[in-house]
Parts: sequence; structure tokens; C-alpha cells
Amino acid sequence: MAIYSQRPTCIVPPDLLKRLILEGDSEVRVRALETLSLDISVRQARAEIAGRRDFDTRPLGSLVDAGGTPNRVIHDQAQATTGVGAVARGEGQPASKDSAVNEAYDGLGATYKFYWEACRRDSIDAAGMLMDGLVHYGTNYNNAMWDGDQMLFGDGDGLLFTRFTASLDVIGHELTHGVTQYELNLVYSSQAGALNESMSDVMGSLVKQYALKQTAPQADWLIGPDCVGPKLKPALRSMKAPGTANSYDNQPADMDGYVKTMEDHGGVHTNSGIPNHAFYLLAIKLGGNAWERAGRIWYETLRDPKLRPNSGFRSFASATVRQAGIIYGTSSAEVSAVREAWSAVKVL
Ligand SMILES: [Zn+2]
Repeated sequence: MAIYSQRPTCIVPPDLLKRLILEGDSEVRVRALETLSLDISVRQARAEIAGRRDFDTRPLGSLVDAGGTPNRVIHDQAQATTGVGAVARGEGQPASKDSAVNEAYDGLGATYKFYWEACRRDSIDAAGMLMDGLVHYGTNYNNAMWDGDQMLFGDGDGLLFTRFTASLDVIGHELTHGVTQYELNLVYSSQAGALNESMSDVMGSLVKQYALKQTAPQADWLIGPDCVGPKLKPALRSMKAPGTANSYDNQPADMDGYVKTMEDHGGVHTNSGIPNHAFYLLAIKLGGNAWERAGRIWYETLRDPKLRPNSGFRSFASATVRQAGIIYGTSSAEVSAVREAWSAVKVL
């Protein structure tokens, strides 16, 4: 049964917004401050709702759904940050005149397709869950988030960010927070939180690679290149080269750079660079389509019954070795490649 203990998980970390407030010019400062204060109020509102939600709200029909088809509803918030806006496009309805509506509809569809075809998973909860996307959330809002049961998309301010719906890896990232919530339910703090963030970057990137039919060497391994504005170009994060995505990027690529901090729930968007880079190294080593072997090992690890919601990097890394052994055999090339990847980032 669903566990609604999830905090809202944003694509743009609070510490990046704080650095923009401290280091940016006056215009950047104002925009970052507006987004940060809205993020905080959303968190408070969702925490209240989360405390009340302990039941499954799926319509009865979906319980007998055999899977394979998404069930999407896109709402137009028209800048509202409370309540749920009017339905702008439901499942199977024709395209809207609004690009944000269509991008959200298509992005949720591409994410569903990836999880169904590559992972044999029927939606976020593996049981055909309705996928709700709320677009035009807030005014110039510089974030997108999974709030525990739906996706919220800001339009960006055009300077730090542009429309978040345009970025398929961001949509895949946010919905994967939902998948993680229904599987390992990794706590959003320190190493477990960084693993939660990393799993979203990994699967978000795979959703994009699957849609574009790109092999591991062809992929850009960037998060958010299609939604960053001029101040944060070329991207929000890089799995290939953590710490180089933009001039504010401070992600480490290995344990030598592990950041101990109280900010951002113990640096969940910072230290996620380490498992992100391990996945990238594995995918490149194995070659071909990253979702086929590397992605499968990571997805099965997310469902590993021996892991716990507070598992750290080493436990997670050991679990990926265990899963690679179960799938491909303990003396397989895949097991060696997984060990090598974690050793390169100094976790194992
Ligand atoms: Zn996230």
C-alpha cells in the first residue's frame, strides 16, 4: 500500500538557489529568492497533507487494468499555487494549443513507456497509478517537483530557467521520485537522500536516452539542458563530469569530494554526483543501450529486499553487485564492471 511519507522533491536544490541569492546580480537574487520562498511554503503545505494521507485513492477500474497504457491528466494551474487547476488535457484527448500542456502530456507518456517497456513496470506505483501533471505552477516559478502524488511544473523566469516541461530528463527524474517512494522509499537525507536523488537522475537520463534511442556513448548525460536559462547553461547537472554543468555546480565525482553539510538535507543534490558518476562509468564500460544492462541492475537494486530506506552508498553499491550477480552470474563481466565503477568513485 502507498506510503505518503514523501517530502516534495524538487529538481532545483535549495542550496543552489541560496548561492544564486548570495553570488548573483540583483535580478538573479530576486528571482532565486521568490522561488526559494515558494518552495518552502509548498513543503509546509504538503507536509500537512502527507500527515493525513494513508489510503489508496486509485479509482477501482485501475485495479483490474492489465497495464501497458498510461492514464494521464494535465491540469492548468494558471499561476495558482494552491488547489488543482482545470483539466487541460486528459488521456487520449487531442493536443492543446498550450505547449506546456502537450510537453507535460508527452513527457509523462514517454516516462510511462520507458518504465513499462524497459522495466515492465505499470506506472509509478506498479499498479497503473494515475499520472497527474500540474503546469503553469506559480509565477516565474524556477522549479519542478514530485509532491508525493503528482508533478508540479513551473514556467521558469527565462533567466535561471525556462519551461520545465520542455526537459524530458527532468520529468523522468521527478516521476522516479514517485517510483522510489513506492519501492525502497529512501529517506530524503544524507547518503540515502543522495541515492534517492541519484536514482532520479539515472532513470531521468534513461527515460531521455530511451526516447531518443541513444546508446551510452551517444547520450549527453546531462540533467536539465532543455530547461536551464542563460545564467545556468549548459545544464543543471552532469553525470559524465559532475561539478562542471554550470558555474555554480559543486557536485563531487568521487568520495574524496564528499560534501558534509547541513544544507539541502545533508547535500542530497550535491553528493548524488558520486553514485551518478558510478552509473555513468558502468554504462560506458558496458556500452550499447544503458537501460538494458546498467539500468536493469539499478532498477532491480531499487527493489532489493535487503536494502533499507536509510541505506548508504556502500550498502547500495554492494546491492548493485548482488543484483548484477543474480541477473548475469557472479563471475560475469557485468559484476566486474559494477565493482570497477564503484571503485573508481571510491565507494567500494
Ligand atoms: Zn530530485
